[in-house]
Amino acid sequence: MFAISRSLRLSRCLSPFGRGLSASSSPGPRTLVAIDFDRTIVEQDSYLAVSQLLPTSQRKELQDQIPKCGWLSFISQVLQRLHGEHKVNSASVGKRVRSLTAVPGMLRVMRQLARIPELELCIVSDANSFFIGEWLQAYAIECLFAGGVFTNPACVQASGELLVLPYQEQTDCDLCPSNMCKGSVMDELTCSGRYERLIYVGDSCNDLCAIKRLRQKDVACIRRGFELHGKMTAHGQELACSVLTWRDGHELEELLMPKIVA
Ligand SMILES: [Mg+2]
Ligand SMILES: [Zn+2]
Repeated sequence: MFAISRSLRLSRCLSPFGRGLSASSSPGPRTLVAIDFDRTIVEQDSYLAVSQLLPTSQRKELQDQIPKCGWLSFISQVLQRLHGEHKVNSASVGKRVRSLTAVPGMLRVMRQLARIPELELCIVSDANSFFIGEWLQAYAIECLFAGGVFTNPACVQASGELLVLPYQEQTDCDLCPSNMCKGSVMDELTCSGRYERLIYVGDSCNDLCAIKRLRQKDVACIRRGFELHGKMTAHGQELACSVLTWRDGHELEELLMPKIVA
């Protein structure tokens, strides 16, 4: 059913943002800053926020299934019920996503980083291209992500129902869900030879695989007080990269900028 070639999927997921993996605009070593979306760029989890459009009992019933069925199945069922039972179309879902607030200081630090010529930004997220595209458009910041947006592709069907497809179907990594291994995305970016150094910014367990793939010269920026930070006691010694912890975008800017311009 999802027999779409990977490159097509990638171009589909990148197409709303215009640029993606285009030719590099300036020569020399480049740094890539890869940023997670939920609870890293936006304060809330976008899937939980959209599920709030359902009546509480239905939402709770579906949320209870997340540990067993995963997030992709969760959002698919949320969207199906919103459209089928409550006549909530993709425009209303988009409106809900657009209302999500940014983590304080995050818009500023992303704009600052995007201005540095030897640096590119990308998003690596298990949300989807529709949600991320809506939110970036709301703030007119699609153009900041020259490195692309790696996420589950989504499309609006003729009926108006929003459909989210898996980014990939993988069984190699048991740290990650079958629809997306963030570590494999980081490996591809490393192997592309396009970037000298990678910096990864994230908050949650689904970012652990990504930061475990980073090398000594790379940097993991872990949001303090969130899930991934809690995992560091057990997994910190498995990381080869350097680590910095941040609470909001202001602190991230303060800690990260000296590492980039040094
Ligand atoms: Mg997150
Ligand atoms: Zn993985």
